[in-house]
Amino acid sequence: MSESAEPRLQPGSQTSLRNANQRRVLDTVRRHGRLTQAQISRRTALAPSTVSNIVHELIGAGLLAAESDGAGRRGQLIGFRGSAGHVVGIDVGHRHVTVAVADLNQRILAQRRHDLPEDHRFEDDLELVGRSLETLLRSRGIPRAGLLAAGLTLPAPVDLEGQLVGASTMLPAWDGIGVREEAARRLGLPVVVENDANAGALGEHAWGAGRGAQHMVYLKVGHGVGAGLILNGVLFRGAAGSAGEIGHTTVDERGRVCRCGNRGCLETYVSSGEVTRLLAGTHGPDLTVPGLVAAAAAGDVGCGRVLGDTGRLLGAAVAGLCNTVDPELVVVGGEIAEAGDLLLGPLRETVSRHAIRGNVRGLRIEPARLGIEAHVAGAVVLALQHAELPAGAVPGG
Ligand SMILES: [Zn+2]
Repeated sequence: MSESAEPRLQPGSQTSLRNANQRRVLDTVRRHGRLTQAQISRRTALAPSTVSNIVHELIGAGLLAAESDGAGRRGQLIGFRGSAGHVVGIDVGHRHVTVAVADLNQRILAQRRHDLPEDHRFEDDLELVGRSLETLLRSRGIPRAGLLAAGLTLPAPVDLEGQLVGASTMLPAWDGIGVREEAARRLGLPVVVENDANAGALGEHAWGAGRGAQHMVYLKVGHGVGAGLILNGVLFRGAAGSAGEIGHTTVDERGRVCRCGNRGCLETYVSSGEVTRLLAGTHGPDLTVPGLVAAAAAGDVGCGRVLGDTGRLLGAAVAGLCNTVDPELVVVGGEIAEAGDLLLGPLRETVSRHAIRGNVRGLRIEPARLGIEAHVAGAVVLALQHAELPAGAVPGG
């Protein structure tokens, strides 16, 4: 950065103040999606006349646009123009990958989900992501050059630098690579990497069951088990990025060996693979979690029993979390959460038995509203948070 070409802006000067106010307006629209001018004024604490001027300038610069919400001029919604840019969300699971493209107004415009073979490798995964993304962009007529950032979520702990922790056992397909750099290089985009439970928490907090919550826990129950914590309205990642790894809480020291190397972790009792394995002898080896959930709903006693036991085991872990962070809401996600009260009933009962009374009074435990889409939604939220608006798009900025 050269300091000689331009006179340095004094803090508080007219120009720097105007630029700062423009950023505030843009960030507010980016964070909340389309808003009326009155809502922007409330959320930025800027005077309505200031907001009106800034919005007018940013519309003139081609960055924002006003759209009618059907309630006349006063109800006009201010949002980003499509040409201001788009972001990408990518959710890589143990057996699937989902790719989504969203605009800066927090709308997912197109999305595709693909199954992955058991022995998939990261090179193939990223190649599939690249192909899927091209198809999505073509289907919506979105230029590749307008992509600003991608959020990538993976089912393993991710450190604060966006690298996997313990990938050799947690996610062997992605072992030994600098995930963020490699994904950025292959996609030609800045990439933010996050653990899937954390992404699920962000997705449900932005668009799902957790909207408006200050303190919430998102519990992911799938091939792996983990929790994402939203505390004081923001994602809590901990000192090394592995906050909320409750799947590796010891349930039985003498239990089965877990992929993390310890024995008897919660995950070895309640993961998708385990709950279907428990029923393989009676219900056949091809039972899937959706099949289990459907059978339990239709009155199958064995499937109902497994769901109940799963709920109780999860409940004991959730009770510990409630005693630690005292959330107002626990959102349960992953395909097994589709079982609703068959899982959540025993889970709630166990939480109320094990958590201290004050912490469960008023506590809500609900299924994820976005279902299995919560993770890719969170990946989009991450990309939105990190997208840099095109340089020079803001007049005088
Ligand atoms: Zn473990």
